[in-house]
Amino acid sequence: MLGSVARKLRFFGYDTWYTKSKPDVEIVLLGIKYRKVILTCDNDMYKRALKLRARAILLDGLGDLENIARTFFSYGTLLSTFMHVRPRCPACNGRTVKVSRSCLEEQILSFPVNNQFFRCWKCNKIYWEGSHYRSLKALSKRIDGRILELLKEPSLYTLNHTTIPRLDYVFWRMHLA
Ligand SMILES: [Zn+2]
Repeated sequence: MLGSVARKLRFFGYDTWYTKSKPDVEIVLLGIKYRKVILTCDNDMYKRALKLRARAILLDGLGDLENIARTFFSYGTLLSTFMHVRPRCPACNGRTVKVSRSCLEEQILSFPVNNQFFRCWKCNKIYWEGSHYRSLKALSKRIDGRILELLKEPSLYTLNHTTIPRLDYVFWRMHLA
């Protein structure tokens, strides 16, 4: 259900794992072990995570923009604060590296001419700054706009957490690329 959110978080540079098949307990234990914030739409899973003292955020499937906005709002930060300049691979979460068109000539002859290309280190998939790239960049600005709106609604401060964590703690937890 949150696969689309995961792909977008990867594009924004966040180290994001996604699974549909692992048992809840295993996910929670992985979250604790690797200091990951667990995002879920499953209320039982959320409660289980909190019981085991994992960091978790309950999302409600209101759409990717709202879900991502509420995730970062829960930590009192904007999406752009820690957004990485290079995306991670939306498909596999691998790190990407910038590559020039000349290095890829044979592979991408049919691709549109663009200034910047990225290659995933893990799966070798190529990404470029096309319309999809630009629309996701625009989405990141809209997400930050939504977070700023939420910050004007003090009643939502207790939505997922009783207090907003300090930013340095957030940085440590988020495991940035
Ligand atoms: Zn990849």
